[in-house]
Amino acid sequence: MANLFRSVRGFNDVLPPDAAAWQQLYRIAAEVFAGYGYGEIKLPLLEQTALFKRSIGEVTDIVEKEMFSFVDREGDSLSLRPEGTASCVRAGLEHGLLHNQQQRLWYAGPMFRHERPQAGRYRQFHQFGVEAYGMAGPDIDAEVIALSARLLKRLGLGDVTLELNSLGGSDVRLRYREALLEFLLRHESSLDADSQRRVRTNPLRVLDAKSAQTQAILADAPSIAESFDDHARAHFDGLQQALGDLGLAFTINPRLVRGIDYYTSTVFEWTTSQLGAQGTVLAGGRYDGLVEQLGGSSTPAVGWACGIERLLLLMKAQGVAIDSGAAHLYFCSLGDAAQRAAGQLAEQLRDADPSLRVVLNAGGGKLAAQLKRADRSGAQFALVLGDAEVEARTVQVKSLRGEPGSGAAQQILPWPELASRLAGLVKH
Ligand code: ATP
Ligand code: MG
Repeated sequence: MANLFRSVRGFNDVLPPDAAAWQQLYRIAAEVFAGYGYGEIKLPLLEQTALFKRSIGEVTDIVEKEMFSFVDREGDSLSLRPEGTASCVRAGLEHGLLHNQQQRLWYAGPMFRHERPQAGRYRQFHQFGVEAYGMAGPDIDAEVIALSARLLKRLGLGDVTLELNSLGGSDVRLRYREALLEFLLRHESSLDADSQRRVRTNPLRVLDAKSAQTQAILADAPSIAESFDDHARAHFDGLQQALGDLGLAFTINPRLVRGIDYYTSTVFEWTTSQLGAQGTVLAGGRYDGLVEQLGGSSTPAVGWACGIERLLLLMKAQGVAIDSGAAHLYFCSLGDAAQRAAGQLAEQLRDADPSLRVVLNAGGGKLAAQLKRADRSGAQFALVLGDAEVEARTVQVKSLRGEPGSGAAQQILPWPELASRLAGLVKH
C-alpha cells in the first residue's frame, strides 16, 4: 500500500454521497439561471496566460502568485483558468456576442488557484457564475443580485449577508486612489509587507489586505463615497432603490473592494460567519472597462461568481436536507427463477417511475448477506423474492429505515400492484 498514488495537494475527489449533493446543486442552479433568461456558456479550462494578466491585473494575488501556468510544446504560456469572467469576455468577443447587444450568460466548472489549501479553500475549486453584457443601468445590477439571492434561498441557505459598495467609475477611482494613497503613505511603515509593496502600484488592493494590523489602520482611511461624482452616486442610489423594491436587505461596506482589478462601480459579496475565514460564498460586481481592455468596443458588464464547495459546506453547516443519491429499493432474490423475475420486475418499476432508484442484488448470497447489502445501500425498502414468491407471483417488502408512515414493517404485494403500491411508500 505504501506506493499508492495520491491526488495532487489541493485537488479533491468527490465521492458518491457528496457527488449527489453536487448534482442537486447544479439542477437547482440551472433552474434558477433559466428562470431569469440566462443561457449557459461552456468555456475551456485553459487560456493564454496573457488573458488573465491583462484582465485580472498584474498586481493581484491571483496573477502574482496563484496561477497554474506552464509553457506548452509550442512555447506558448498557458494557464489553467483561475476564474471565469476573463474567458467569458474572450469568448464573447471571439464569437461576436458582445458588440451592440445584450447578453445574459452563466457558466459552471472548475477553477484553479495555487493557494494554501484549507477548509473552503482548494487549488481546484468550482464556481457558478453569471455575466450580463450591454446593460449600463442599475436595473441589471439589481437583477444579478436578485438572482444570487434566489439561488441562495432555493438552496435552503439563510444567515447570509449582502454587502454592497461602489467603486465609482474610472474618474472616481482615480480621485479616490489619490486620497487613499496620501493616507496610506502616512501609515506606510505600519502596513504589512504585501501592502507596503502595493501602496504605489495598486493602493486600492491594500483595502483587501488580510492582515489584521493593516485592517485596523484602514479603519480611518478615507471612504470612496467621498470621491463619488453625480453619475456614481445616481447609479449607486438607483441600485439601492431597486434592491429595496425587491425586498432585498443589504449592508453598505465602504471598505469592500474585490481581489480583481477589472471591477468598476458596483461591487458586492454574500458573506456568512459560519465558514470561518472563508466567509465569502458569492461575490461580484460591475466591470465596464474589461471588454474594451480585451480589444472590444466599450461594453457595460456586470456579474458574479460563487464557490460551489463553500455553498455545500454552508448547506451542511445549516443542516439543509441534501440528496444522498441513495437507492430507494434493493431487490434481493434467492434462486435462479427469483433472480430472473427480479430483473424483469425491476425494469418494470423503472418504466413506471423513471426517477425511482432500484438496485438489483448481484453475485447471489444468502438472504442475510443480501439484506445487509440492502441496508448498506441506504435503500428505504428491500424487496425479497424466493421460489415461494415466484410461485405466488408476489414480493415481500421490508422497510429498512422504519420511517414513520412507511406502513407495516413487512408486507406482501402482488406483482401487478407492485409499482402503484410502492409509489405510495417510497419517499423521493
Ligand atoms: P477569497 O477572498 O475567499 O480568497 P476571492 O475574492 O479570491 O475570495 P473571487 O475571485 O471573487 O474570490 O471568487 C468568487 C468566489 O469563489 C469566492 O467568493 C469563493 O466562494 C470562491 N473561491 C475563490 N477562491 C476559492 C478557493 N481557492 N477555493 C474555494 N473557493 C474559492
Ligand atoms: Mg482569493
